[in-house]
Amino acid sequence: MSFTLAIVGRPNVGKSTLFNRLVGKRLALVDDQPGVTRDLREGAARLADLRFTVIDTAGLEDVTDDSLQGRMRRLTERAVDMADICLFMVDARVGITPTDLVFADILRKRAGHVILAANKSEGAAADAGVIEAYSLGLGEPIRLSAEHGEGLNDLYTHLMPLADAYAERAAEDAPEIDVTLDEDSGDMEAAIRMPTANKPLQVAVVGRPNSGKSTLVNQILGEDRLLTGPEAGITRDAISLRMDWVGPEGDVIPMRIFDTAGMRKKAKVQEKLEKLSVGDGLRAVKFAEVVVVLLDAAIPFEQQDLRIADLAEREGRAVVVAVNKWDIEENKQAKLKDLRESFERLLPQLRGAPLVTVSARTGRGLDRLHTAILRAYEVWNRRVTTAQLNRWLAGMLEAHPPPAPQGKRIKLRYMTQAKTRPPGFVVMCSHPDKVPESYSRYLVNGLRVDFDMPGAPIRLWMRGQN
Ligand code: GDP
Ligand code: GDP
Repeated sequence: MSFTLAIVGRPNVGKSTLFNRLVGKRLALVDDQPGVTRDLREGAARLADLRFTVIDTAGLEDVTDDSLQGRMRRLTERAVDMADICLFMVDARVGITPTDLVFADILRKRAGHVILAANKSEGAAADAGVIEAYSLGLGEPIRLSAEHGEGLNDLYTHLMPLADAYAERAAEDAPEIDVTLDEDSGDMEAAIRMPTANKPLQVAVVGRPNSGKSTLVNQILGEDRLLTGPEAGITRDAISLRMDWVGPEGDVIPMRIFDTAGMRKKAKVQEKLEKLSVGDGLRAVKFAEVVVVLLDAAIPFEQQDLRIADLAEREGRAVVVAVNKWDIEENKQAKLKDLRESFERLLPQLRGAPLVTVSARTGRGLDRLHTAILRAYEVWNRRVTTAQLNRWLAGMLEAHPPPAPQGKRIKLRYMTQAKTRPPGFVVMCSHPDKVPESYSRYLVNGLRVDFDMPGAPIRLWMRGQN
């Protein structure tokens, strides 16, 4: 499954109808599978060539009025936390109701990526409602008719680029470790390994050609050791640069920066260049501990940028997104807001990762970049004690218990941090293969928030006991 889509909205807008349509004949099978909880249905969805997990906040219809608001809110929040993308559904025949506004508010505050759909929009009777849906401020609504299967190609168009971003997440095996509960006495308090002259912090600066990678590295170095220029055609060999980058507080980070194809500019043909830089970026990413994705403020978040950022996340690197050429940006405040929104929308898998604006040309913002790199590195090295983790796990289990496949509850017994760089956690449980991906995501998102690890590519493995 590439991603999880939650269908949210007030009762009767048509969520289940869409759920059934997306899940289709597999529904019979789905019923036998563990639901996320009793109130949330989870199914394997299919839309043209897309395969994903869909969550439906079913079961609300049976609720009496006075408890409805609270339950609806909790259920929706849970679904939102478990999902990568939320499909917010309103009823175009009814128009926007106060309850819809409550939902919109939850989604704005909590969801990584929201797609708005005005359902029951077959026929002209729905036109007014569709137009009203714009007022939610969640973008253009998709005109949908779940019942008649209309608007699904629009939904597909919205989902496809996101599916790309989530595609082919590397299947990872849990590290070989023996987990015991009394591990706490060991190196749990161990200090974060800071970079030294012998082991400098490995940084890769990646990004599309002309985003300003060479200029940035030159500026950091403070000398013209690399060639830059507007014309593609200057030949350089791929190298890494060893240097000490002095930070805003005079702190020195011994650093090794990996050069990428943008600095080489071997190919004259644009197409070739792009292929080259993806391959080179890939190599640099594998070497790096922290990956700086350098965007051009004028053309941020292009396919190539998204691909490399996603790759860095999948490779388990700490990621810092830097937006370059900030000096020529006129309306900085509006642009920054825009960038943050795009970031959340297009790279939800990096939720919380730092976004800094820089000017490689003038050197402005480099202190911020320095701080962000160090901080990302620190988070990437973070270790949480087993005692802390288990207190936390108990709370998470209580808030949202795991599902009960065939009436048998999955027991999550305890957890421990198996590795750092990036942080990896193992949860010992009764039926590791039955824990839905969405429940793991709930735990991962929780770890990020509660242990202050924004943007960290956290890994989580479910393990059985034998
Ligand atoms: P939920 O409570 O949000 O899951 O809503 P349901 O899927 O149960 O649908 C509520 C009602 O709306 C049902 O009677 C559906 O048949 C109807 N419905 C769902 N989608 C559409 C649609 O696209 N057009 C029309 N006219 N009715 C729909
Ligand atoms: P690379 O291909 O990513 O290494 O990009 P370069 O460093 O060669 O920069 C490409 C072009 O963008 C050059 O013309 C640079 O002078 C220009 N450039 C780089 N950084 C900045 C910046 O911060 N502001 C402005 N205005 N231009 C920049």
